[in-house]
Amino acid sequence: ELLEPPQFTSVSRAEQKSDNNLSCRLATKFSNALKSGEIDVYFQPKINLETNEITGLEALARWQLAGVFVPPEHFIALAENYNLIGQLTNQIVEKSLSHFARFITFNRQLGLSINLSSVELCQQDLPDFLFEKVTVYGLSPHMITLEITETVLLEKNSVSLEILARFRLMGFQLSIDDFGSGYSSVNMLQNGPFTELKIDKVFIQSMHSTDKSKIIVQSIVDLAKKLELKIVAEGIETRQDLQEVIKAGCKYGQGYFFSKPINATHVTTCLLNWEDN
Ligand code: C2E
Ligand code: CA
Ligand code: CA
Ligand code: CA
Repeated sequence: ELLEPPQFTSVSRAEQKSDNNLSCRLATKFSNALKSGEIDVYFQPKINLETNEITGLEALARWQLAGVFVPPEHFIALAENYNLIGQLTNQIVEKSLSHFARFITFNRQLGLSINLSSVELCQQDLPDFLFEKVTVYGLSPHMITLEITETVLLEKNSVSLEILARFRLMGFQLSIDDFGSGYSSVNMLQNGPFTELKIDKVFIQSMHSTDKSKIIVQSIVDLAKKLELKIVAEGIETRQDLQEVIKAGCKYGQGYFFSKPINATHVTTCLLNWEDN
């Protein structure tokens, strides 16, 4: 059973007030969960589709409220609206790096992807914070990919672009997430120093049923190749999805077909047994 997201559209004043109260109470619970370290991190493998090897792990935040997982889309939006996103990122960075430092002892080539919300890209101290954390764990920024999802339109926001440039100069990889949907746009691609492009799963999952999606994915892949970006197809659920993305020329993929997001203990087993799959 999943919690409903806060709805602010087309409701009466009274309803809106009660929704605001609800979302405020949920934000308080989330804030407490952050303080008590209850926010967990799961990992989803990223696969090299040519070699079938795990090349990376994407860190994904998890919050359980009364034994039920709250969908990340809900609490990420909550964190953005209630100014808690910085605290969330700090904890995900801390936890994912400490696990990752152990994971790479099994596979030296492994990378780690961390999600950042575009609203954080005005946080001037974020590059230094991440660089310091990575160094503390004896890791190097080139092992880390920062996945940026646009939830607000960045356009040519100079602060965000400056922060992205600083990340790149430090050696971090930068990925444009959910490409093709929402605000993640060609605009961002033109102006940001990205090294990777993730094609949104809505396109991947409709490739088998509509030619339109195939054409769109093919065009995104061609564009990304010309711009010398790594291409990742997300949301590969079936063998058919896999065949379609390979045909389109995607080199990397993620999805339930390979693995759902799993906890750190499970990652270790997964890394040790992957070849036997
Ligand atoms: P995302 O970054 O696009 O992550 C991929 C989402 O797709 C994840 O959902 C993952 O569980 C799901 N997914 C992976 N493979 C499949 C598949 O084959 N089929 C389907 N239907 N779904 C698949 P999740 O974990 O619920 O996260 C949702 C979103 O919340 C993420 O989308 C990301 O934007 C955000 N998020 C999660 N963790 C963090 C975080 O630590 N920081 C920030 N800023 N955002 C986060
Ligand atoms: Ca992502
Ligand atoms: Ca995505
Ligand atoms: Ca997404």
